[in-house]
Parts: sequence; structure tokens; C-alpha cells
Amino acid sequence: MKILLKNKGIPDSQSLEIYSGRGGYAALRKALSLSPEEIISIVEDSGLRGRGGAGFPAGAKWKLLTKYRRKTVYLICNADEGEPGTFKDRYVMEFDPHLLVEGMTIAARATGAHHGFIYIRGEYLRMAKALVKAIEEAQAKGFLGNNIMGSGFSFFMDVFRGAGAYVCGEETALIESLEGKAGRPRLKPPFPAAAGLYGESTVIHNVTTLSFIPFIIENGPEAFRAIGKLGRGGTKLFCISGHVNKPGLYEYPMGTSLKKLIYEAGGGIKEGRRLKAVIPGGLSSPILKEDEIDVDMDFQSLHSVGTMLGSGGIIVLDEDASIPLIAQKTAKFYAHESCGQCAPCREGTNMIKFLIDRIVAGSGAAKDIEQVLRLCRYIKGSTICAFGYAAAMPIETMLRKFRSEFEALLRNI
Ligand code: SF4
Repeated sequence: MKILLKNKGIPDSQSLEIYSGRGGYAALRKALSLSPEEIISIVEDSGLRGRGGAGFPAGAKWKLLTKYRRKTVYLICNADEGEPGTFKDRYVMEFDPHLLVEGMTIAARATGAHHGFIYIRGEYLRMAKALVKAIEEAQAKGFLGNNIMGSGFSFFMDVFRGAGAYVCGEETALIESLEGKAGRPRLKPPFPAAAGLYGESTVIHNVTTLSFIPFIIENGPEAFRAIGKLGRGGTKLFCISGHVNKPGLYEYPMGTSLKKLIYEAGGGIKEGRRLKAVIPGGLSSPILKEDEIDVDMDFQSLHSVGTMLGSGGIIVLDEDASIPLIAQKTAKFYAHESCGQCAPCREGTNMIKFLIDRIVAGSGAAKDIEQVLRLCRYIKGSTICAFGYAAAMPIETMLRKFRSEFEALLRNI
């Protein structure tokens, strides 16, 4: 079952002609005949949960507006895809941009937004161009803009390119950046539904969350719910990278086993080597050992084994991978990307980097390992945004599960 990759490989799939010729914009036509409440109810019934990482139910997010609605509602697509190991949004935006435009327009109809922004990672220039072209095409054909398809509903969209900061994937940092300020997360509450862009009600979704909406409207919530193991709701794009024979982007039902993804989609471990570990949901997700991969890829199952679905970026590591070296790169990344606003994150990530550098260089002591673990504990839960967890969790689990590899590098005293 392909929903987001159904047009993969079709020549000129990004054009309006091909998209509409393959049934595109039929869902929007249907949505325009429904009331906003009916659309919200359909999406809520489908069980669609955010695919960016947090997994918040999309319909429930829209319902928050009934409580917090201000004069204006803005709709934002979070396309600031910066999680290492993740390359799903870029595919949709480059090869199926109308799918996102249609999904956003339906979401706008449901939430009463008349203006939307796609905040796209600055490095995604080709994808940004594809989106601008799709928006122009849709507007020219009356699928976007004033009085869409004669319905009386109007919605306009703009593409905004970020400047390459990982933290702008956090929704309030993204809003700050969109407002022209430095991209630093805000204290919450208030949440964006109550006070988001320019202080108005704002709804934010990831690219793939929005791109599921046309399928749900067209086929009904039951059809979406029926996909996925035990009705866990739809499919998910998995980005498989690392030491596999067939790295790439794959669409599988939610709840597909991680083992199956590695050995079926990814073609198994390169050159017949043994699997050592897997980072299952982008760099910020806690690492799993070889004997922990018999787990379903859905929110609950991964949580039960101490990790998370995250962005669906599966990084596979074979027996020759050095976990201390991976921890070193991880620590360097988070120390660099911290926005510096709160001390535990700013100082803690730099201190972790310093200590791991020292261990990898062969001049660390046993107390350095304990100190890194202590810093991870302090950072978690004491920062403004979830970046603190994202920085601490992978390092902490690498140290706990592969401690002997770190100990082997310590200086002999
Ligand atoms: Fe910035 Fe880190 Fe604090 Fe988030 S946790 S606000 S990234 S310093």
C-alpha cells in the first residue's frame, strides 16, 4: 500500500498535469463540499498522528482551535527537515509537491486558515523551487488562492527558506524565525494554537502528516485506519541508511517490524557482516542493540523498548562500527546546534562533547564516563525545549549499552 510514494517513478510527477491526471485534487473538491467540522471529524476518526516525531493526533490539534481561536489562524508546514538520517520530506516536496499543496489546502479549510507557510530547510533549494512552481500552477488552475473552485473559500501559501539551524525544526523556534527573529524556542505555554505566528492562532504540521490528508478525505477514515498492524493508522516513510545493501526511502504500514525493514527493504547488512546496532528514529532516538530489533515500528512499541519512532530515520550499524566515534559525532552535532538559550543545554552539550573527545583521544578516565552520564541526567527535563532530551538520550544509551567500548579507550593509570 503506497500513499505518499504512489507517484514515485512516474515521469514528471511534480507537474499539475500528471498529479491531477492521477486523481489529484479530487480530495480537495470533496473537502470543499464538507463543513470544517466534518473534515476535522474524518481526520480525527482516521487516527492520523503527526509524522514529524512527536506523534500528536492531527485532528486533536485542530480541535484545540475551538478553545483557543484568535482572530486569525495561520497554517504552517514544518519542512525544516534537519534530523540526521532523515530524508523523507524532501522526496515529497521535490517529486510530489501538489500532494502537500492539496493536503495543506484541505487542512486550511478545516481550521479556517487563509494564509499558510511552508518553512523549508534552507539547503533544500530544489525542493523549494518545486513547491513554488506547484503553488503557482495550483493558483492558476483555481485550486489555490481566491475563491477556490468557486467554493467561496480562499487560501494563499508562501514558501519560506530557513537558514540551516536544526533547532528551527522546533515549532516555536520556527515561528520566531518566520517572524524574522533568531530561531530560538519560546517558553510554553502559550502553545501555538493560542499564540503562535504574530501572536495569532497557529497550526503546525510536518510535510508527511499534511500529505496523508488527501488520502483520508478521499477514502475515508476507516481505509486509513485499516492500514497498519492492528489498525495503528496508515503508513510511514522510513529512511534507511548506513550499513545496508539497499539504503533508501521506503513506505511501509505503521507497525512493520524494524527487523523486516532492515532485512527486506534495506536488503540486509552489507557484505554479509553482523548487525551491531540500530538508531531507529533519527539521530535523537536512543540506540537499539542487535537483539532489540524485533520490535514494531510504531509509537507505543518503540516507547516500550526505551526508544522512539521519531522521524523514521533508521541508521543501521554493522559489527565494525565504533560506537564511541558515533557518540563523538553525535555530541559534536548537538553542541553545535544548541541555540544557547538555556544553561543546561548550552553548557551541558559542550561539556559532553569535551569529555567524549577526551575519551576517544585515549586520555579519558573512568570518571569521565560517569560525568557524561550525570550531565545527560541533568540536561533532560531542565531545558526550554525538547532539544535537551534529543541531545542527551542518544549519548546516554550509547554509553549504557556499549560501555565496554568506551572503557577500552580510557587511559591506563
Ligand atoms: Fe536552545 Fe537547547 Fe534550550 Fe532548546 S534546550 S532552548 S536548543 S538551549
